Amino acid sequence: MTVETRKLQIACPVCASSEVFYTCTPNCCFNHVCGHCGSTFEPVTRKAGGTLSGALPPQPGPEASDPTVACAKCEETTVYMTEDTTLVCTSCGSRLALEFTEIVRG
Ligand SMILES: [Zn+2]
Ligand SMILES: [Zn+2]
Repeated sequence: MTVETRKLQIACPVCASSEVFYTCTPNCCFNHVCGHCGSTFEPVTRKAGGTLSGALPPQPGPEASDPTVACAKCEETTVYMTEDTTLVCTSCGSRLALEFTEIVRG
Protein backbone atom coordinates (compact mmCIF):
# COMPACT_ATOMS: atom_id res chain seq x y z
CA MET A 1 0.00 0.00 0.00
CA THR A 2 1.26 3.45 -0.82
CA VAL A 3 0.53 6.82 0.70
CA GLU A 4 0.54 9.90 -1.49
CA THR A 5 2.05 13.08 -0.18
CA ARG A 6 2.11 16.68 -1.25
CA LYS A 7 4.75 19.35 -1.12
CA LEU A 8 5.57 20.73 2.27
CA GLN A 9 3.67 23.88 3.18
CA ILE A 10 4.93 26.04 5.97
CA ALA A 11 2.98 28.90 7.52
CA CYS A 12 5.01 31.87 8.73
CA PRO A 13 5.38 31.55 12.54
CA VAL A 14 4.94 35.34 12.85
CA CYS A 15 2.00 36.22 10.56
CA ALA A 16 0.77 32.77 9.44
CA SER A 17 1.14 33.64 5.75
CA SER A 18 1.81 30.68 3.49
CA GLU A 19 4.01 32.84 1.24
CA VAL A 20 7.16 31.27 2.60
CA PHE A 21 10.29 30.82 0.54
CA TYR A 22 13.43 28.85 1.15
CA THR A 23 16.43 31.08 0.59
CA CYS A 24 19.41 28.79 1.05
CA THR A 25 20.59 25.26 0.29
CA PRO A 26 20.38 22.19 2.54
CA ASN A 27 24.18 21.93 2.85
CA CYS A 28 24.25 25.44 4.32
CA CYS A 29 21.19 26.23 6.40
CA PHE A 30 17.41 26.16 6.41
CA ASN A 31 16.79 29.89 6.45
CA HIS A 32 13.33 30.76 5.12
CA VAL A 33 11.80 34.16 4.52
CA CYS A 34 8.16 35.19 4.66
CA GLY A 35 7.08 37.09 1.55
CA HIS A 36 4.35 38.81 3.52
CA CYS A 37 6.00 40.21 6.68
CA GLY A 38 9.69 39.68 5.84
CA SER A 39 10.43 37.60 8.91
CA THR A 40 13.08 34.91 8.66
CA PHE A 41 13.17 31.60 10.46
CA GLU A 42 14.47 28.05 10.26
CA PRO A 43 12.03 25.16 10.42
CA VAL A 44 13.15 21.97 12.15
CA THR A 45 11.44 18.67 12.71
CA ARG A 46 11.15 16.43 15.71
CA LYS A 47 10.06 12.84 15.74
CA ALA A 48 6.31 12.68 16.25
CA GLY A 49 6.44 8.97 17.01
CA GLY A 50 5.73 6.06 14.76
CA THR A 51 6.30 5.53 11.09
CA LEU A 52 4.20 5.59 7.99
CA SER A 53 5.13 2.94 5.47
CA GLY A 54 4.77 3.39 1.75
CA ALA A 55 4.83 7.19 1.73
CA LEU A 56 5.86 8.40 -1.72
CA PRO A 57 7.35 11.80 -2.60
CA PRO A 58 5.01 14.09 -4.55
CA GLN A 59 5.25 14.40 -8.33
CA PRO A 60 6.43 16.87 -9.43
CA GLY A 61 8.80 17.41 -6.55
CA PRO A 62 9.51 20.71 -4.85
CA GLU A 63 11.44 23.53 -6.48
CA ALA A 64 14.53 25.11 -4.95
CA SER A 65 12.59 27.94 -3.30
CA ASP A 66 9.85 25.71 -1.90
CA PRO A 67 9.84 25.20 1.87
CA THR A 68 12.33 22.54 2.90
CA VAL A 69 13.10 20.89 6.20
CA ALA A 70 15.37 18.04 7.25
CA CYS A 71 14.13 14.83 8.82
CA ALA A 72 14.86 14.64 12.55
CA LYS A 73 15.83 11.01 12.16
CA CYS A 74 17.74 10.53 8.89
CA GLU A 75 18.48 14.18 7.99
CA GLU A 76 17.20 13.78 4.44
CA THR A 77 15.22 16.72 3.07
CA THR A 78 12.48 14.42 1.84
CA VAL A 79 9.85 15.65 4.26
CA TYR A 80 6.34 15.99 2.85
CA MET A 81 2.76 16.20 4.01
CA THR A 82 0.03 13.60 3.85
CA GLU A 83 -3.66 14.34 3.25
CA ASP A 84 -4.26 15.07 6.93
CA THR A 85 -1.19 17.40 7.05
CA THR A 86 0.94 14.94 9.00
CA LEU A 87 4.60 15.41 8.13
CA VAL A 88 6.38 12.31 6.96
CA CYS A 89 9.88 11.59 5.71
CA THR A 90 9.64 9.55 2.52
CA SER A 91 13.21 8.26 3.02
CA CYS A 92 12.85 6.61 6.43
CA GLY A 93 9.07 6.78 6.96
CA SER A 94 9.26 8.70 10.25
CA ARG A 95 6.26 10.74 11.26
CA LEU A 96 7.44 14.23 12.11
CA ALA A 97 6.25 17.44 13.74
CA LEU A 98 7.33 20.91 12.66
CA GLU A 99 8.96 23.47 14.92
CA PHE A 100 10.67 26.79 14.31
CA THR A 101 14.00 28.20 15.42
CA GLU A 102 15.95 31.37 14.69
CA ILE A 103 12.81 33.46 14.28
CA VAL A 104 13.70 37.05 13.36
CA ARG A 105 10.72 39.33 12.92
CA GLY A 106 10.72 41.35 9.71
ZN1 LIG B 1 5.13 36.43 7.93
ZN1 LIG C 1 13.93 10.42 7.48
